[in-house]
Amino acid sequence: MLMRTYLDLTTEAHASLTAMDQAAGDGDFGDNLRDALRLVDSRMPDDAGLAVEFAVAATCFLDEVGGTSGPLIGLLLQEIAAALAAAPAGRSEVDDALVAGLAAGIAAVQRVGEAQVGDRTMLDSLVPALDLLTEAPRPVDWAAVAAEARRAAEATAGLKARMGRASYVGERALGTPDAGAVGMALFFAALAQERTA
Ligand code: ADP
Ligand code: MG
Ligand code: MG
Repeated sequence: MLMRTYLDLTTEAHASLTAMDQAAGDGDFGDNLRDALRLVDSRMPDDAGLAVEFAVAATCFLDEVGGTSGPLIGLLLQEIAAALAAAPAGRSEVDDALVAGLAAGIAAVQRVGEAQVGDRTMLDSLVPALDLLTEAPRPVDWAAVAAEARRAAEATAGLKARMGRASYVGERALGTPDAGAVGMALFFAALAQERTA
């Protein structure tokens, strides 16, 4: 199950996500993401397919999760849920729906959050992953996408924040990756496990 795997990876990374948000923000990102995914896990029906997994997760993030990241991740998940709900069941068709949903979701995050690539936010791992996906042959090599998201997330260590709390601390966060960008890389890592299982 995708969201269970995402919870497991986030739980493993909790201390490092906390440290990243401490360096740049208020230190709650590890808690925010882990607690959100615990709630998702508690609400997930046993027989949930991928579309239902995204729909349940989107509702939790949008309605119950605080912080800047919660509603933005909720928007992303909601668009993916909508694309999957309309997709035929084949492997390439589901890959196409995931890519279309990610594109719509990332556009929604940009519209609502008003951040650009390079501002040191979750977009700095989401957009490079989407760029790779847009060119990728089907079926998608999700492990390669996850590796690109991880690389891009690590590269945010060299960026100065313009949006969110990290923009208040200026240079202090330099050398530490953005917690939200790493949190999105963990999402792609979970998706890669799900799609290659
Ligand atoms: P808060 O700053 O309210 O405590 P979180 O700690 O839950 O929020 O989330 C912080 C993360 O949110 C940042 O690491 C960054 O990736 C992301 N973020 C902040 N502002 C924006 C924005 N405008 N657009 C996209 N992502 C953002
Ligand atoms: Mg925070
Ligand atoms: Mg906070």
